[in-house]
Amino acid sequence: MSNHPLADYFRRAVFVLSAQKPTDLPPDTGAEVAFTGRSNAGKSSAINSITDHRGLARTSKTPGRTQLINFFALDDEHRLVDLPGFGYAKVSLDVRDNWQQTLNEYLQIRTSLAGLVLIMDIRHPLTPFDVDMLTWCREMQMPVHILLTKADKLSRGAAGSVLEKVRRYLAQYPSTATVQTFSALKKQGIDDARKQLAEWLALKL
Ligand code: GDP
Repeated sequence: MSNHPLADYFRRAVFVLSAQKPTDLPPDTGAEVAFTGRSNAGKSSAINSITDHRGLARTSKTPGRTQLINFFALDDEHRLVDLPGFGYAKVSLDVRDNWQQTLNEYLQIRTSLAGLVLIMDIRHPLTPFDVDMLTWCREMQMPVHILLTKADKLSRGAAGSVLEKVRRYLAQYPSTATVQTFSALKKQGIDDARKQLAEWLALKL
């Protein structure tokens, strides 16, 4: 163990299973945090940075994996969940409807779901998909934490103004909606993200 217990803890993440339908879901015990976002926003890279694994979450370009809800265990009682990416054009409408239904069901039934990490490309924040997710979180009183990823693509000043803009937008939401900048490439914001997850998972490290 290093002197960095949070990093060590998240490094323990191991792939458990991929669920295609609600009956595939692992037992609804303990606590989990789910990641979602438009395809290509940088969700897989964020999960891989937080867990310090190179290939734990596969990118949306990996066919097959994208329609599934992927579960990663941190220990017996705590999990990270990779929800299917949205906006990936190369799937049939049938498949999309099907997984949309599974996803809706997951979001509705999952009592161990402690919070949602919503990934946005800092250059394209608050897409209609993001606004839908935020509305859902508000209605369900589900805590949400936004990662504005690829912050390295903007100057510090420009990144700061997007952060402010999103903060202002979130003012209409309860205090359970928070936002930070993030860069998997420059390893920026990773510890802040880990701290938010640790709080939701009620980890005692
Ligand atoms: P996903 O579809 O949301 O899982 O997105 P990926 O994690 O696969 O990332 C999509 C693309 O964005 C890939 O080409 C990544 O290399 C790139 N990317 C992801 N995170 C960052 C980042 O922090 N900075 C930069 N510059 N590129 C990133």
